[in-house]
Amino acid sequence: MNDPIYFDESLRAFRDQVARFVNEEIIPYAEKWEEEGMVPRELYCKAGELGMFGLRYPEEYGGSNLNALYTAVMCEELGKCTYGGVSIGMAVHGEMSSPHLERFGTSEQKDKYLTKIISGELVTGVAVTEPDAGSDVAGIRTRAVKDGDEWVINGTKMFITNGLYGGLFFVAAKTDPEAKGSRGVTMFLVERDTPGFSVARPLKKTGWLASDTAELIFEDMRVHESNVLGEVNRGFYSVMENFQNERLALGMMAMGEAQKALELTLQYVKDRKAFGGVLWDKQIIRQRLSQLSAEVEAARQLGYHCAWLDSQGKDCVKETSMVKVLCGELVNKVMYECVQFHGGMGFMRETAVERMSRDARVHAIGGGATEVMREEIAKRL
Ligand SMILES: Cc1cc2nc3c(=O)[nH]c(=O)nc-3n(C[C@H](O)[C@H](O)[C@H](O)COP(=O)(O)OP(=O)(O)OC[C@H]3O[C@@H](n4cnc5c(N)ncnc54)[C@H](O)[C@@H]3O)c2cc1C
Repeated sequence: MNDPIYFDESLRAFRDQVARFVNEEIIPYAEKWEEEGMVPRELYCKAGELGMFGLRYPEEYGGSNLNALYTAVMCEELGKCTYGGVSIGMAVHGEMSSPHLERFGTSEQKDKYLTKIISGELVTGVAVTEPDAGSDVAGIRTRAVKDGDEWVINGTKMFITNGLYGGLFFVAAKTDPEAKGSRGVTMFLVERDTPGFSVARPLKKTGWLASDTAELIFEDMRVHESNVLGEVNRGFYSVMENFQNERLALGMMAMGEAQKALELTLQYVKDRKAFGGVLWDKQIIRQRLSQLSAEVEAARQLGYHCAWLDSQGKDCVKETSMVKVLCGELVNKVMYECVQFHGGMGFMRETAVERMSRDARVHAIGGGATEVMREEIAKRL
């Protein structure tokens, strides 16, 4: 399929570069990382060297000052690695948590952390979700109370990606419990070795096995007031703003996964002998794979369009929500069919589509569940 009109040589070269990275640096090793439940820091440093964590950050910190189309292309290519746990850890670091700092950080905060984030030396996570509050971000209970020039933070965060091995977290806490709804939330920069910070437990997941996901506890954790990220009591809005990029990144990752699963399945049904021919001879199989390819193509084009709108400074909350809901559901539909056409092998741990079908499930839940995305769209219809 031809690239959209707004793709240029630089973007195409970048796609090739990420694809090479996926083939040379991820695929040969990722099975081991799945078993170990972690991705080595060296991978982050290698990706950092290639500029993958500084796509849209200022050049003075080692970034490339590019636009959302690069995010879209990178996440799509990462998705093709077939190990969702590897791609999500990297995408959370570069596209979902560190943007909090780049967008809302002071120059002192950026000077302190951004160069190391871009180089991959310092891995980041975002800690918003809690055991009792996920989709309903305004319902968080983690509390930050001012004490002199410090804030004392108490609370629990749930499902935090990079939670075990990340070094810096962007943490949402209530600073004004009296404030109604979305007001009264503040974002804080929290280094992992801050006294009072601990991991309650690593979480065992259905998929994304190479990604470390944890429940975090903050007990009388003190951070200096210079660790406030953005404005006090305005954190909800920065979380919402960053969600846009998160949703685009997740949607494009899902479409990379879907394309790869279709490619693997196409190969499988063309090779698989049955009924005197191969499975590809069966019209029903050709029809289903064609239909799914068309749907995936449409969804990824919407993702590019969304990224382009963003690159032009246009509001695209509705379109981004559409990308998230469409891709989060579609990737699951694709995986179901790909497993089906692999037959028994699709249910075996040694088959990529088996892993990919487990990894895909969370796309309809994390970073904005399908139903929540539909409500976001509905508000804007
Ligand atoms: C593997 C993994 C990694 C994650 N990483 C992070 C991370 O790094 N940082 C972080 O902060 N969070 C993270 N999350 C949390 C994730 O974003 C939340 O799980 C998600 O937002 C849903 O919240 P919840 O799980 O509390 O579900 P709930 O909010 O309890 O919702 C449960 C279900 O109810 C339905 N629902 C919810 N709201 C509505 C509504 N308004 N209308 C209709 N139906 C609705 C949806 O089907 C939803 O799936 C991660 C989650 C997972 C599983």
